[in-house]
Amino acid sequence: MPFEIVKLADDVYHLQSGANAGVIAADGQALVIDAGLDDEMGKRIKRALESLDLSLAALILTHGHADHFGGAAYLRRALPPFAVYAPPLEAAFISNTVLEGMMLSAGAAPIDQLRGKFTLAQPCAVDHLLAPGALNLLGLDLEIVPLPGHSPNQIGVRYRDILFSADAFLPSAALQKYPVPFTVHMAQALESLARLAELDGVLFAPGHGAQLSDARAVIAHNRAVLQRLIEMTFDQLRAAPMNDASLTQSICAALGDPLANAVSYGLARTAVQAALAYLYERGQVAFEAGGFWRAVP
Ligand SMILES: [Zn+2]
Repeated sequence: MPFEIVKLADDVYHLQSGANAGVIAADGQALVIDAGLDDEMGKRIKRALESLDLSLAALILTHGHADHFGGAAYLRRALPPFAVYAPPLEAAFISNTVLEGMMLSAGAAPIDQLRGKFTLAQPCAVDHLLAPGALNLLGLDLEIVPLPGHSPNQIGVRYRDILFSADAFLPSAALQKYPVPFTVHMAQALESLARLAELDGVLFAPGHGAQLSDARAVIAHNRAVLQRLIEMTFDQLRAAPMNDASLTQSICAALGDPLANAVSYGLARTAVQAALAYLYERGQVAFEAGGFWRAVP
C-alpha cells in the first residue's frame, strides 16, 4: 500500500495510505488522528513523526474500525507513553476488538474469516473518552465533530479550517467497489452527510482517499448510495416479504456485489439492517412473526 505525507497547512499533515491518519504539530509534539490498519502503518506513522521531528503526545481515534486503529497497539509498544482518546462506544470496540467480528456475525462468536486483521485488530486501551464540542489538546483549539452513522459514535476532528472527517463519506471509487457501504444508522449517516455538505471553506481530510477542498460531489454520491439502498430495500419488500439474509443477497446481486466472504456479507447485512430500521421507524415496513419483513401498504 503506498504511503504519502501530504502537507495540508504549516503544522498539519495528512498521512495518506489504505486508511489515512492525520498529524497536527504543536511545539515539537504531535497530535495524531487515527493509526491505520496494522503494525506496518504504525511503523510508517512513527517514521513520519521522526521525519517531522515530532514526538507523539496524543492520539485521537475517530471510530472503532480495525483499519483506523489497528496500528495503535504498535505505537503504544514502540513509543514513550502518550494519551489515547476515543468516543465512548468506539472505545469499547477499540479496547475489546472481538466485538467487531461479533457485530458482523449477528452477535455470535466470529468464524475465522472474521478474525483477519481487517476485522480483528490488536486492542488498544483508551485513556480518555471524547464528547462532541470544543477540546483543547496540546494547546491546540480543536472541535470534536459528531459524525455518527457509519459507526455509532464516530467523530471528526476540526482544527481551524481543516476537518479530519473519518469515514463520514467514502471516495466514489470505494462506493463503486462496495455498493452497499457499511452503515449502522441510516438517518444519522444522512444527517452527518447533510451537515458536512453545509460547511463552507473547509478542507476535508477523509479517512480514505485524498484531501478535498470541495467535497460536495462525493458527499452527494454517498447520500445517493444510501438512499438507493433504502429504496431498494423497500421495493424488494413491496414485491414480497423477506428475511434480512434474503434481502441482503438479492440487493447485493442486483448491485453486482458478489458477497465473496463472511466479511463482505456481514458488512452488507448490517447496512441492510440499518435500512430496515430506517424504514421501520418511519412506519414503512413491519416485522412479522417467522422473521420476515414486509412493506406496510
Ligand atoms: Zn470505518
